[in-house]
Amino acid sequence: MKIDAAALPRTAALAERLAELHDIACAAGLLGWDREANMPPGGQEGRIAQMGTMSRLLHRMTTDDAVGALIEDAATELAGRPADDPAVALVRVTRRHYDDARCLPDDFVRRRADVSGRAHPAWVKARAEDDFGAFAPHLEAVVDLNRELAELYGYADDPYDAVLDRFEEGATTAEVRGLFDALQATLVPIAAAIRESGRAIDDRMLHRHYPVPDQQAYARELAQSVGYDLERGHIGTAVHPFAASFGRGDCRITTRWYPDFVGASLFGTLHECGHAMYEQGTDPAYARGPLGRGASSGVHESQSRLMENIVGRSRGFWEARFGGLQAAFPAALGDTDADGFYRAVNKVSGTPIRVESDELTYNLHIVLRFELEQALLAGDLAVRDLAGAWNDRMAALLGIVPPSNREGVLQDVHWTRPSFGYFPTYALGNLIAAQLYEAAVAADPTVATDLQAGSPAALWSWLGEHVHQHGKRFKPAELVERATGSPLSVDAFVRYARAKFSDVYDLEL
Ligand code: ZN
Repeated sequence: MKIDAAALPRTAALAERLAELHDIACAAGLLGWDREANMPPGGQEGRIAQMGTMSRLLHRMTTDDAVGALIEDAATELAGRPADDPAVALVRVTRRHYDDARCLPDDFVRRRADVSGRAHPAWVKARAEDDFGAFAPHLEAVVDLNRELAELYGYADDPYDAVLDRFEEGATTAEVRGLFDALQATLVPIAAAIRESGRAIDDRMLHRHYPVPDQQAYARELAQSVGYDLERGHIGTAVHPFAASFGRGDCRITTRWYPDFVGASLFGTLHECGHAMYEQGTDPAYARGPLGRGASSGVHESQSRLMENIVGRSRGFWEARFGGLQAAFPAALGDTDADGFYRAVNKVSGTPIRVESDELTYNLHIVLRFELEQALLAGDLAVRDLAGAWNDRMAALLGIVPPSNREGVLQDVHWTRPSFGYFPTYALGNLIAAQLYEAAVAADPTVATDLQAGSPAALWSWLGEHVHQHGKRFKPAELVERATGSPLSVDAFVRYARAKFSDVYDLEL
């Protein structure tokens, strides 16, 4: 990050050290991206060692006493400046990161990297073979690590607070539970009204044959057309799609391609574009420093959900673009029109797979994971009982039992990372997305007219000004309130979902 060394020499010295740490973190991150997107299976053992060494090295450098001294020197130099001054924010973010990292002994960091390195390939294999028993010992190690982590970080009320706060600064388990309860209370009746209406949407055209090379070509065009800068981006392939940034000049995404289902690549691409375009939009002055990232996991997810759902599953988007999609896949879509396609991609389908679920019931998939993680961490649920508990809760919340563990408890990569506390940020992201969208439409009428014409340009420009450029400068709750004028609530999402699914199903919801 650029700091005027003549005016603020000590803060500039801190920024210089942080730039080096940033470079090393990016190099280490690239090993992880490569493992999931490129590496041959034989690289596994070597990569575990490489990533473990990098992680230890980075931990040692980040927690060095000298870094602590630089932080305190900079804080003294900046005394009296407002909290929203970027230099003050830099110290806030760095101090939080430093204090968190200092809580973790070297031995813990090494064990965590080792558990994660072994859990990931075990999960890939267990998922492919639908064998939860083979993954269970790894998951037990993950639960133990998270329990240990909560104690190391410390917490006031609930051990889950400690792991949640790492991803969503300032959020508590009790607050999230309150939001999720309010969501369930409104979404369950809406979903029930749709089911009871007996209205069926035909989405068979999504499951026809879509040649993978054609999907890859279309995804590339789609990504560019919504504003993803491929000069500073890259589209790869991974078992579980993700975005990974190595500075604002290199924000990559991955997608998965099914020859018999086009939804995964279309909406996976849009989703990850939302993540990558957030970081591509951070202030260049924050480059090579901790402010040039997203404000939190929840705010990050809000950007991906905006692009995937609020933009990418809107009526206007497909009215404007369906002709192009049909031309790319004439055999699969020759007998479909824009209206039919729009309804198909918004079908409330009751899939057991989170990443393929609809906007309405998606949050219930998150509620399930939020509950199970808490139960595992608290010791109220044993890993050996997890697959059964998963299926029971899935039946209660969504009315479906997954046909296999592969489509149930083994579907997500997250527990190999090996962090708990991340899942709730997906649903928080949905709530933030709707609240930001409502504020953007109120502030600038071209946001809505642009979207009706299939373009997110005006929306993204508003987000660039109110969200993206700020990076990590503001805490997530503060960012949301500054951008929208209100604290986060479920109201905007509920209004949005009601209007959207009333249109999709021709119902008064
Ligand atoms: Zn995401």
